[in-house]
Amino acid sequence: MMKRVKASTFIHAIRSYKRFCHFESKSHLGFGSLGSSVRTNVGIFWDLDNKPPKSFPPFEAATKLKKAAGEFGVVRYTVAYANRHAFSYVPPLVRQQRKERKTLNSLEKSGVVKVEEPYFCRVCGRRFYTNEKLVNHFKQIHEREHTKRLNQLESARGKMRVKLVAKYAMKMDKYKNAVRDVLTPKVGYGLADELKRAGFWVRTVSDKPQAADVALRNHLVDVMDKRMVECVVLVSDDSDFVEVLKEARLRCLKTVVVGDCNDGALKRTADAAFSWQEIMMGKAKKEAVSVVGRWKDRDVLKRLEWTYDPEVEKKQYYSKVESDDSDGLFSGEDDNKDVGASISKEDARAWWELDSRSGHD
Ligand SMILES: [Zn+2]
Repeated sequence: MMKRVKASTFIHAIRSYKRFCHFESKSHLGFGSLGSSVRTNVGIFWDLDNKPPKSFPPFEAATKLKKAAGEFGVVRYTVAYANRHAFSYVPPLVRQQRKERKTLNSLEKSGVVKVEEPYFCRVCGRRFYTNEKLVNHFKQIHEREHTKRLNQLESARGKMRVKLVAKYAMKMDKYKNAVRDVLTPKVGYGLADELKRAGFWVRTVSDKPQAADVALRNHLVDVMDKRMVECVVLVSDDSDFVEVLKEARLRCLKTVVVGDCNDGALKRTADAAFSWQEIMMGKAKKEAVSVVGRWKDRDVLKRLEWTYDPEVEKKQYYSKVESDDSDGLFSGEDDNKDVGASISKEDARAWWELDSRSGHD
């Protein structure tokens, strides 16, 4: 355990030294140092087969996703894969409800049916005798207001943003609770177009099971082979992607997973993980800063190992692995302490036994 103490002392010393001397991480740390003068290229890979954002408008979700990913570096690739099913799917129950609603609407309009209780706008309290009028009112007034607020929040920064969030919190909640019953959810409608509008490269694959997974995985491997990105943001809940994520880490790429499966295998494998909620609320964007900080520490530590005792390091920690790509032999963990823990012998072994299997997928 001497090593752990030594490593963390060094890392601290180097960090303060860096701060003091202002030297460029570029020359000092080599590749992969984020947020420094070397910008990291980021690729977003979105598995729409598993992961259409259920409760968020797709354009907004895609935009927020790009913003969050932008905190990890320069977003170079934004791709989304799905079969046709994902683009046209409307749950049977919803379809049935819509049909009934439509029938009732036309009956109301022609005056055949008169509802006992008027429709009630849950945002402003106005009453309407037909559903159609309520929907029109809601779109013209409340949807417009909501979009305006979102745009304002989007462009606000720092204290201003905090103030606005507080100011709008109740209104936003009210709107969100009301909108579900009034407006048709847009999800499933024009999903591909919405994502394209947000700048994603959308690919539709055949409807064979797993086709989207396979296509996405191949694309990801191709991008890794060509060293086009240093950071992979994978949007999926599908544990089938675990192996490719491990491969990414093996190749020294930073990995980020976005999905709503909280204790999923994917999130355990990645360096950082966010839920859709965190992406949409801008929490991921903020947290990314500290993730990048941890990555920097990891790079510093990695560099120290190399500089000070490469032979000892190799014997002690890498003996289990047959690889000349030893840059990648470092697991990112939650904080400095964990980085130390992961180079302790037991942990490193367990980690590598998992990874050496995935090397040639
Ligand atoms: Zn209203």
